Amino acid sequence: DKQDYDVVVVGSGGAGFSAAIEAAEAGKKVVIIEKMPTVGGNTLISGGEMNAPGNWVQKKLGITGDSVESYYEDTMKGGDNLGDPKLVHLMAENALASAEWLRDEVKVEFLEDQLFQFGGHSYKRALIPVGHTGQEVITKLKKKAEAAGVKILVDTKADELLQDNSGKVTGVAATYKENQEVKFTAKDAVILTTGGFGSNVKMRKEYNPEYDERYMSTDTEGTTGDGIVMAENVGAALTNMESIQTYPIANPKTGVISLLADTRFDGAILVNQEGQRFVEELERRDVISEAILAQTGGYTYQLWNDDIDGISKTKAAHEDEYDELIKDKLLVKADTLEEAAEFFDIDPEALKATVEKVNEYAKTGDDKDFHHRGGLVSLEKGPYYIEKAIPSVHHTMGGLVINQETEVLDEAGKAIPGLYAAGELTGVIQGSNRLGGNAITDIITFGRIAGKTAGKL
Ligand code: ADP
Repeated sequence: DKQDYDVVVVGSGGAGFSAAIEAAEAGKKVVIIEKMPTVGGNTLISGGEMNAPGNWVQKKLGITGDSVESYYEDTMKGGDNLGDPKLVHLMAENALASAEWLRDEVKVEFLEDQLFQFGGHSYKRALIPVGHTGQEVITKLKKKAEAAGVKILVDTKADELLQDNSGKVTGVAATYKENQEVKFTAKDAVILTTGGFGSNVKMRKEYNPEYDERYMSTDTEGTTGDGIVMAENVGAALTNMESIQTYPIANPKTGVISLLADTRFDGAILVNQEGQRFVEELERRDVISEAILAQTGGYTYQLWNDDIDGISKTKAAHEDEYDELIKDKLLVKADTLEEAAEFFDIDPEALKATVEKVNEYAKTGDDKDFHHRGGLVSLEKGPYYIEKAIPSVHHTMGGLVINQETEVLDEAGKAIPGLYAAGELTGVIQGSNRLGGNAITDIITFGRIAGKTAGKL
């Protein structure tokens, strides 16, 4: 079986849809092939928050001072300055336009009066889609892609890239439903948007033995690095592959990310089995994860109260997760701190002493122990929520080397003709550590650039 297109997009996360829409709107005949039975990838199951400095919600909330430069610097610093400065700047400059595109063209609805300040960011700058997940983003992207005439094929796994005699990438060899071979020819471009390799333990270990089977992953099972391997097989350079990020607050039974625990961005604290705080709650993910693993048992408890939930509203947004955690005894709602402590066998006096200090620091605005950058929030009043959590592999920062046009480069820094890439499988944006809310900005921005580049061919 053979199917002919101008542009073949591999992978249907946020990057793939953005690329496909732009290419189709530029007049190209476009297909997205997706190996899983449903579209969306990790974009779908993520919180969906998106950093955009100078955004409309900041204006509404009276948050001033944020800028492209500040966002650029936070991102560079957050990744230990390993990101490519030009590309990080390109993302920072385009972040707001990408968010406006999602809002105005794709019709993604963002909350009008709430933002997140993820770890490592100097401002509250992350827009939150309704429902607090990527579901809203993917649902609307899919609708837009269909309206633009993009063909979407699920259960279709790309196996390898096809090349002509000159080395130009001319298409993709794929398998439909595990047994039917299909060739997709791409007259102009193949755009790889297959995401990272967080679910591929073998590949994780190959590049960083630390992240072996001891770690579960927050990622979908399709997150196996296929695009990275396919591109490497046609000579693409890889970079930064050892940089693998754990998400600090995940379900100890399943490894799934805890979105309920996004209360952390509004003042929830982290304590260990001894009832002590041990890290700044708005630190970078890698710092928090390492700190958690150094505690008794390698886990943490996150504690917050109803006042904080009133700001975050995560309980209403993530009811299913809430119920599941309660059922699995990984979360409890308690009227008093004693009750909360006893549920998890924490010394009640120690927890109370910790919380008293937090309350004092909340009043003075000065967290003398960990310098909480958002300012601590008083935990004087119950009811309380306390949740047990572990770090889980979440994002792979490394991958393909691309340039400002999203061309995939070889070891010599030369573009491989016909091959483009965007999203988590690229390795040059997030450095050694991706900050929260940066994936959506990255994938939408570079996905669109890839689609526009292909649109001009
Ligand atoms: P990004 O955030 O970069 O857009 P996602 O993880 O959201 O990445 O999406 C990547 C998508 O690519 C997933 O839906 C995944 O199932 C899909 N995918 C991964 N490998 C292949 C492959 N070999 N063929 C087709 N689709 C793939």
